[in-house]
Amino acid sequence: MVHNFNAGPSILPKEVFEQASQAILNFNDTGLSILEIGHRTPLFEPVMQEARALVKELMNLDTNHEVLFLHGGATTQFMQLPMNLLNENGLASYTETGTWSNKAIKEAKLFGHVEISGSSKEENFTSIPDELQVSATAAYLHITTNETIAGTQWHAIPYDCGVPLVADMSSDILSRVLDFNRFDLIYAGAQKNMGAAGVNLVVVNKNILGKVSRNIPSILDYQNHIKEESMLNTPPVFAVYVAMLTLRWLKKQGGVSVIEQKNNEKAKLFYDTIDNLPVFKCPIRKIDRSKMNAVFVMENPELEKEFLNLCTAEGMIGVKGHRSVGGFRVSMYNALPIESVKAFTNLMKHFATKHG
Ligand SMILES: *Cc1c(COP(=O)(O)O)cnc(C)c1O
Repeated sequence: MVHNFNAGPSILPKEVFEQASQAILNFNDTGLSILEIGHRTPLFEPVMQEARALVKELMNLDTNHEVLFLHGGATTQFMQLPMNLLNENGLASYTETGTWSNKAIKEAKLFGHVEISGSSKEENFTSIPDELQVSATAAYLHITTNETIAGTQWHAIPYDCGVPLVADMSSDILSRVLDFNRFDLIYAGAQKNMGAAGVNLVVVNKNILGKVSRNIPSILDYQNHIKEESMLNTPPVFAVYVAMLTLRWLKKQGGVSVIEQKNNEKAKLFYDTIDNLPVFKCPIRKIDRSKMNAVFVMENPELEKEFLNLCTAEGMIGVKGHRSVGGFRVSMYNALPIESVKAFTNLMKHFATKHG
């Protein structure tokens, strides 16, 4: 028995793996693999259409919001977003909450001016900024809704920031109910919570596009992708298919509100346990703790190796902290069953008894 706490690529529902394997061997009883069919065919086009429609339905999107599946990982969106939304002399507002927001900031600076409207750098990224200073002239405000490495999450979304709101939701997409229509652009690499690596979800309010003066390469222009219904060129067909299967699974679970309750239960079990065991310590400010990626350390760092060895022996996969921060990280994405969190917290209790 293994428990998969990998941060990304990460656990997906078992039925998705089974269906995806089947489609590689014999897609929809055609005698063909999904890997050997044209994308502009009556075989694949419905896959793209269903994937986009499921996102619209699960996120409750209005008609201004377009759904795209694009190449390149969230890292591509770090540059594609400012290229489409930020004029050369314009200003964009960014919140600085950890590794991922810093990477987004670095890319935005290539296209225009960037102000930092709120930062938790002084707190070593263990919190989310309490207050933001957003210039009214900013083209948009960018937030990273869940900092996958730092282990923080925005629980109060700054909807009323006065400028278009854009967000990197790579590691908490579809994990909780938000007012998605109040975001003007949302992007997420699929490999954390909604599919396989190789595809990005982009949800964009079409009314904010077409306002920059620079020439945008065709493949990087959101408007072209909207016009071509996310089939401007060959899409990453298999990754889109896996995303569609995962979205179907999510709908079958009851949708985002049902999965949110399950995620809340898992996070509560984890954090209640750690707060009651003095051997372990979660350095994140309580109100800002991530329900997707829980980070923690040991009060006595000398015990870390022993605990890690115990985790390995017990089949707890992917719990070592990111190489940049150390300690431990337990990722609890949508597909992770609560049984895995129970197994992990039992192991923590067992270890604490031994070293208490
Ligand atoms: C993983 C991650 C990324 C990077 O995604 P890639 O698909 O590897 O480019 C960006 N932002 C966040 C919040 C992430 O968790």
